Parts: sequence; C-alpha cells; structure tokens
Amino acid sequence: MAATTASHPKITNGVGIAPRVRLGCSCLTHRPASASSTITPTLPRIPHGLLTLKRGSTTRRAVRGDSVASFATRRRASPPSLTTSAALSTEELAQTSSSGKSVENLVIIGSGPAGYTAAIYAARANLKPVVFEGYQVGGVPGGQLMTTTDVENFPGFPDGITGPDLMDRMRRQAERWGAELYQEDVEFVDVKNAPFTVRSSERKVRCHSIIVATGATAKRLRIPREDEFWSRGISACAICDGASPLFKGQVLAVVGGGDTATEEAIYLTKYARHVHLLVRRDHLKASKAMQDRVFNNPNITVHFNTETVDVVSNPKGQMSGILVRRVDTQKESVLEAKGLFYGIGHSPNSQLLEGQIKLDSSGYMLAEKGTTKTSVEGVFAAGDVQDHEWRQAITAAGSGCVAALSVERYLTSNNLLVEFHQKPTEEVKKDLTDRDVQEGFDITLLKHKGQYALRKLYHESPRLLCVLYTSPTCGPCRTLKPIITKVVDEFEHDVHFVEIDITEDPEIAEAAEIMGTPCVHFFKNKEMLKTLSGVKMKREYREFIEANK
Ligand SMILES: Cc1cc2nc3c(=O)[nH]c(=O)nc-3n(C[C@H](O)[C@H](O)[C@H](O)COP(=O)(O)OP(=O)(O)OC[C@H]3O[C@@H](n4cnc5c(N)ncnc54)[C@H](O)[C@@H]3O)c2cc1C
Repeated sequence: MAATTASHPKITNGVGIAPRVRLGCSCLTHRPASASSTITPTLPRIPHGLLTLKRGSTTRRAVRGDSVASFATRRRASPPSLTTSAALSTEELAQTSSSGKSVENLVIIGSGPAGYTAAIYAARANLKPVVFEGYQVGGVPGGQLMTTTDVENFPGFPDGITGPDLMDRMRRQAERWGAELYQEDVEFVDVKNAPFTVRSSERKVRCHSIIVATGATAKRLRIPREDEFWSRGISACAICDGASPLFKGQVLAVVGGGDTATEEAIYLTKYARHVHLLVRRDHLKASKAMQDRVFNNPNITVHFNTETVDVVSNPKGQMSGILVRRVDTQKESVLEAKGLFYGIGHSPNSQLLEGQIKLDSSGYMLAEKGTTKTSVEGVFAAGDVQDHEWRQAITAAGSGCVAALSVERYLTSNNLLVEFHQKPTEEVKKDLTDRDVQEGFDITLLKHKGQYALRKLYHESPRLLCVLYTSPTCGPCRTLKPIITKVVDEFEHDVHFVEIDITEDPEIAEAAEIMGTPCVHFFKNKEMLKTLSGVKMKREYREFIEANK
C-alpha cells in the first residue's frame, strides 16, 4: 500500500512543533546530500561542517520496480495498486544515482511556510521530498518571515515567536522526517517534458511532481542612487538592519503605506530619534490596527502624497537625506534622514515558470479553484506565489499541506510513488555553545565569538581573519552563519573566524562602521582586505579565502 501517514490526524504533523533536538545555536543549518540521493551534483561536494542536528538516514523501499522509460505509459494506464519489493541497498542506490536514471517523487521549490509545510507532510508520507530552499534570487532560505521579529498570530505560540525561530522549527521538523534540503537557488525548470527537470546552481534533479512555493520578493524603488547606497543607508529590511549602531538615535524614513511599511516604521522607533513614513497616496493601506499604532506614535510623522525621488549625500559621501516630491504640487524638497527603508510590497517569484504554466497578469501562479493544481498535471503551487489576497504564514502553510497531500494522491493514482523509510542514527558533531565560549579564548581554535576574541586575533593571529557581524533578529544572518562556517571549515589551518553580535558588542560594530547585518570583514596582518555585506554565493567567500589565505 502507498503510505497514507500524512492524511492521519497525528500530532506529529503539527507544523512548527519539532521534536526536541540538541542544538548548539538556533541557526538554520544546511543538510548535505545523503548517500541515497538520486541527484546529480554538478560541483564537487563541500566537506561536512559542524552540523548541530540529529539526523536520520533514509532507506528506499521500492513500491514499483520499473524504470523511468515507462513513465508515460504508467501515467495514462496503471490502477493505483502498488506492490512492495525488497529495500534497495546503499550500493544499489549509489549506482541508481550515478546512472542518472532515477526520478525523485517530489521536488519542492521554496522554504517559506508553504515549502516547509509541504516538506513535512511529504516527508511524513515517506516521499523523501527534495527541497530547494533558495539562497538569494527569491529571498533568503526560510522566506519572508526571516525578516520579521514577533509573529503573534501563528497558532500554537500563545506568547508569540520570532519569524526566524518559527522557520527554524519548521525546517528542523521537515529535516527530521527525511526531507532532503539544499540551500540553492533553482535556475531552470522544465515541466513540458515528463519526468520534469529541476536544475539549481549545483545539481540537476528529475522528478515526477513539483510543488512551487517560491513566495514573493520585496520590491525596490529603483531610484537613481539605489545601488550606490544599498546597505549603506538604503535597506529593504528594517528588522535586519535597524539595530545598526549607525542608525541609532538618527532620523530615518520608511517608504510605503501598507502593513510592511507601518510595521517597519514602528519597529524603527525602538532605535531611531524619529521616523518619517513616506506615502505616495493620500491614505494608508495598512490594517486598521497598524494605522492606529502609527498615528498614536509620537515618533512617527506620516507624509501623504509624497514620492521618494532619490537619496542625497553629504561631502563625506554618507547618506544625509531624501529628495521627496509632493504628488499634488510637484514641489521637491530634501528631508533629513540617515537611512531609508523600503516597505513597498512584494512581487511573486514565478519567473521560472513563465511560458510553461498559466500565470495571471501580475505574475501570480493560477491554481484551480479550491486546490493547488496548476495548468500542468503534476505541478502544484502553494503559498504567496499563488495568493495575492491573503498572504499570511498560516494560509501559506495550509496550502503547502494541501499541495503535499495532492502530490501523494497524484503519485499513487499514477503508480509513480516510491516510498522511503527512515532509520534513526546517532548524533553528529555539535557547534560551540555559549559556555564553551565563556570558558576562555584559545588561539588554536578555528572559531570564536565576541570582541575579546576579535581583539586578540586582530593583534596575534598570523592567519586570514574572517569577522561575521550578526544581530539576533536578523534572519539572513541565520542563513549565512552555517554557510560561512562551513566554508571556513575547509580552511581550518589558514583562517580564524570570529562572530560579533552587534547588540552585545555595539562599540566594535560602531568602530567597524557596520551599517547592516550580516556583514563579513576580512583582515590580514591588521589590514582590512574586504567587506562583503549581505548573503553572497558560497563560492565568493571560498574564492576570497583561497586567494588570500
Ligand atoms: C515583514 C513581514 C512580516 C510578516 N509578518 C507576518 C505575520 O506576523 N504573520 C503572518 O501570518 N504573516 C506575516 N507575513 C507574511 C508571511 O511572511 C508570508 O505570507 C509567508 O511567508 C508566505 O510564505 P511562502 O512560503 O508562500 O513564501 P515566502 O515566505 O516568501 O518564501 C519563499 C521561499 O522561496 C524561495 N525561493 C524563491 N525563489 C526561489 C528559487 N528560484 N529557487 C529556490 N528557492 C526559491 C525563497 O528563498 C524563500 O525561501 C509577513 C511578511 C513580511 C514581509
């Protein structure tokens, strides 16, 4: 029989409530390809870093003993009766994999609430989904909630939970049940030919079904000096960058009139002297509750009918103000501000499917009413990429669940399903805990935390010094940390790594002129060699270290 676990009302399907696992930190971790993967890597695999999670290995139990070649026939004909054969050995799996003939049950593209929920349900149904979590093109792994602080309306958390913590829990829950996760952007999809093809920057996968859960991306204004001041005054994430020492006590501005902009404005009043909200229309689109909070906050001034034209700088080249224009009178003026935060909404990340799947005029994927089925059989859409109306974490998660259950039905009824079963395995290496850190500085260690270690290493280390600046509410920081620590592991005798939490060590962050997190500085022999702001491709860090070690 095909697995039906996901349709049973078991508590293990409760999204966000992962079983207890021992974690050294709450950062998201990347799971490398397992030996049983049927995926074709296009680059050499990265050595295994310091993972912090217990993992289960998976074995495949074939419930069909046929090949890809007969796919088309099966798709049309076979009744949903599945026979179970003996489990495949690891060697057989490796051969299957290297032959490049195997086809995955399901690929999920995206790792917001929709993608991870789909992954949890599909993994619980023993489909062993392959999840491309994304990296850069459509937002950070974990999705939009990685850029927010408290989520107060997600069921199950009466005291609220931060966005990054919620997504961390969902990820761990998906991983625990056997989802195969890759922090890579999908660059190409072919759903015109079956089996489908999905290609990322590092591998190519063939699959019988796809759930597209690529969400939406923050829009940019495209003002003339945007690139020049990006991460040097202009930001699309107040939650990530607002705590920067250079914004503290300053006058800041937020552009937009919806929920995102109003939330950002309110959040920034924690740090800023005053916040201007620049609204092009003559009213706010935000919910009534958010409007009330904005209008009742004496530290926010709302400017209606006001367009943001550009930013202006002082003679030192620092951002000093915003050129604004009144929509009614066309009069231009400069508003003093040291930072400009965008809160102007999102665009659906559906470019991958353009020309292959029906989209609406704004680019949202069209799903059959009341379902997640798209115009192509076997391809399902979940979350914000198909929802221009509700756009909530819980509605995204709900549609992820529907999509995964629909995939299970689809595979079963087309006699395509291959089941995978999990075997528990022992714990892997753990990361440094805070206690390890407090117990003292040791220059022979590769990784360190805090300003004491930074000062020691700056003066005493002959190696290349990699400094990662983070802040606790910054989602992209959680994305970058496991990536950069893994790259650093590859150069363990040539590099020293130190993490600075800018809220714990604000003086250091100020001295280093940190405008936003995450930010990486490289030093050698007390000389600053390079700054990399935001989350970059793995190879950028690797290539720089290789060239300068
Ligand atoms: C500031 C802010 C605060 C919010 N607060 C709340 C709240 O309190 N409560 C609430 O219910 N909702 C809130 N929302 C809305 C909520 O975050 C979204 O509705 C929800 O995240 C949508 O989930 P999703 O899974 O559809 O997509 P997203 O969360 O957008 O995730 C999309 C995923 O797809 C990945 N991706 C995109 N393109 C590719 C590609 N080519 N290859 C691989 N991966 C790709 C991205 O990396 C990302 O992981 C908030 C949104 C914002 C911006």
